[in-house]
Amino acid sequence: MFLLDAHLDLAMNAMEWNRDLRQPLEAVRERESAWTDKPDRGNGVLTFPEMRRGQIGLCVATQIARYVKPGSKLSGWHSPEQAWAQTQAQLAWYRVMEEQGELVQITDLDQLEKHLGKWFSSSVDSGSHNQLPIGYILSLEGADSMVNLSYLERSYESGLRALGLGHYGPGTYAPGTGAEGGLSQAGKDLLREMDRLGMILDLTHLSDEAFWEAMDIFSGAVWASHCNCRSIIPHQRQLNDEQLKAIIQRNGVIGMVFDAWMMHVGWERGVTTPQSVDLKLERIIDHVDHICQLAGNANHVGIGSDLDGGYGTEQCPGDVQSIADLQNLESILAERGYTVDQIRSVFHGNFLNVLRSAWA
Ligand SMILES: [Zn+2]
Repeated sequence: MFLLDAHLDLAMNAMEWNRDLRQPLEAVRERESAWTDKPDRGNGVLTFPEMRRGQIGLCVATQIARYVKPGSKLSGWHSPEQAWAQTQAQLAWYRVMEEQGELVQITDLDQLEKHLGKWFSSSVDSGSHNQLPIGYILSLEGADSMVNLSYLERSYESGLRALGLGHYGPGTYAPGTGAEGGLSQAGKDLLREMDRLGMILDLTHLSDEAFWEAMDIFSGAVWASHCNCRSIIPHQRQLNDEQLKAIIQRNGVIGMVFDAWMMHVGWERGVTTPQSVDLKLERIIDHVDHICQLAGNANHVGIGSDLDGGYGTEQCPGDVQSIADLQNLESILAERGYTVDQIRSVFHGNFLNVLRSAWA
């Protein structure tokens, strides 16, 4: 079934992890198997061929570059200008992948429907979908790289259509995961500018206070591209029931994320293994169920896998060796009582609804 993945860090993998995503997965793993600079070396699960095999014909793909002040323990760039330049290197990689027919940028309704038409009329059996470019909607994860407000419109002109204000730690615009407090004045101004441009607000990673302020100020379309439920896995990084309900009320969608620590209580990075706690894909259905219960329907949950977000097989469900394995969610959802229409909504329909209403 066609799958829309609402959160992938493709360009980060290309430009910081030095992965050529056009290659077969085995080749990417083999090439970096002796490296130890990142915890997921040799364990990646995403390449373009694997995305096509998993029928992921459309994704929301990020630019991501953090700015860190002196004394910060987080990794990141030492000035917003350097962070901006990093996002532009990432954009340059997306562009060259477009030139090669691997990717196609989707920025409006017309492009969206044309792209979907091609994928929906392609056939997995004949492999004709392997000839199609993968669509991507450009998003920015954490807004630190916006040197000032004028950079947002420049980014919009480059195709940026969704933005999350914070990431990890304190941010220029909003505190993110692990930080507390509300939006800065710059954050409030950025939201109003996003509204003017018709961009989508990604609520992922915001501190609770910033979440509610953002919901108040911003009037456009919202989603939480990659978040699970706090009531199941308690952590500020996840959304509590009030937040989930507020997103549902705004016709937003929450994308289910497969980072192991967000699926298993007490996961210790680098210590726990998917096998030691029998972590499997099915575990995510508790979160899907919970959101559907709160909504009273299956119209507000999707997939934002984040499966290339700085981890690989060492920190994702044990039955995911490739992003293509997300296709198994179809039968898992069916076994848990979801109808074909509901599964279609989760796989792509719900996020498409947000895009269609944002771009109408
Ligand atoms: Zn993230």
